[in-house]
Amino acid sequence: MAYQKVKGTNDFYDLDSKKLRYIEGVVTNIIKDYGFSEMITPIFENTEVFVRSVGEASDIVTKEMYTFLDKGERSLTLRPEGTAAIVRCFVENKLFGTPGIKKYYYFGPMFRYERPQKGRFREFHQFGAEIYGDASPYLDAEVILSAYRILTELKIKGVKLKINTIGDFISRENYSKALKEYFKDKLDKLCDDCKNRYNKNPMRILDCKVDSDSDILKNAPKIKDFLTDEAKAYFNTILKCLDELKIPYVVDSSLVRGLDYYTDTVFEFISDFDGLAICAGGRYADLVKSFNGPDLPGIGYAFGVERVKDIMEEEGLFPNLERCVDVVIISLDDDSKISALNLAYNLRKEKLSVEMDYKNNSLKPQFKLSDRVNPRFIVIIGEAERESGIYTVKDTINKIEEKVKLDKIVSFIKGE
Ligand code: ATP
Ligand code: MG
Repeated sequence: MAYQKVKGTNDFYDLDSKKLRYIEGVVTNIIKDYGFSEMITPIFENTEVFVRSVGEASDIVTKEMYTFLDKGERSLTLRPEGTAAIVRCFVENKLFGTPGIKKYYYFGPMFRYERPQKGRFREFHQFGAEIYGDASPYLDAEVILSAYRILTELKIKGVKLKINTIGDFISRENYSKALKEYFKDKLDKLCDDCKNRYNKNPMRILDCKVDSDSDILKNAPKIKDFLTDEAKAYFNTILKCLDELKIPYVVDSSLVRGLDYYTDTVFEFISDFDGLAICAGGRYADLVKSFNGPDLPGIGYAFGVERVKDIMEEEGLFPNLERCVDVVIISLDDDSKISALNLAYNLRKEKLSVEMDYKNNSLKPQFKLSDRVNPRFIVIIGEAERESGIYTVKDTINKIEEKVKLDKIVSFIKGE
């Protein structure tokens, strides 16, 4: 099937592409209010960028990456997520060199070799936001708040915020030891991947999709019993902020997230509509350092744009994005086609969208075109109009027809 799209990918055209761009417009407008600027990084990176950050034991690295050798025998990978490349760029360009916290957002395609199904594709889009430079529970609260604001602005209801802390370094060290001890004599009851995770990063076992319903996982030690006092206080301050700001949440002590770089705060917004996460994120204490940068903490999240789009379609939350053209120009002879080109040129300079017919001189096919694109105004140009310089303009909403001088058409249509 050489001429069909690759399994797990999507084409976006007509209304679908408008919906994607509508979401992009809303989210980027909001995040700019929070002081974020856009970062555009390559679609592929050296494989090591993802292995080092996302983690050797993660599902993404072990199973889901599109990795290939280029003609120079370099191992490259199509980005499976956004954070790693942003950190790589941040460190490589020494963006930490000036004072203050740094805020970046991105919007674009990601690639993961997953089993395609509803809300899960091999190419999908993420919108993400990242902050480097400070670790403060108030900043964590504000980051969560900005994601919440995006959901509110898109009018998406029925979303549950799940939040947890996986603690600071010491908390996680102690927790890892406890998990190893707990799973030691239960390994034969876990899936093969989990046996591997046991050695590399036992916390990953808790994120296993195969074993997720087993009692062994449910009864495993919980991170909350291993938190240091500092980690507890940090987390409680975030919860206090959310309480004060009346942001509903549930603390889910088994939430660990599927990427190794997370530390301390982790969160997900889950949709009631299909139980899928539409946004997920957390804090990462050591990511910048692990890319040979300074010891600067980071925090961020990513929205799954297709999942947002699904919910918005289901709940009828998109505004009318149907094609609606400002002006159709009908021209009744060859010379009028040139006048039409000229008028279209001037109208488009004024940011008005214009359609015209390039082939027909009779009215019928041109009105057919007009019906298809549903214009706000129709301008008719024939020999008489060219000679008098007075054109017929139809206002299709108010159902009136006016004779307008050529040099007044732009201001007439713009309602000035
Ligand atoms: P999941 O648990 O659903 O596999 P994840 O933990 O792998 O998600 P992240 O890596 O945190 O997800 O990515 C952030 C968001 O990107 C997810 O919450 C989801 O909305 C979206 N996302 C992740 N993988 C896919 C995919 N294969 N297709 C579509 N959207 C996805
Ligand atoms: Mg996943």
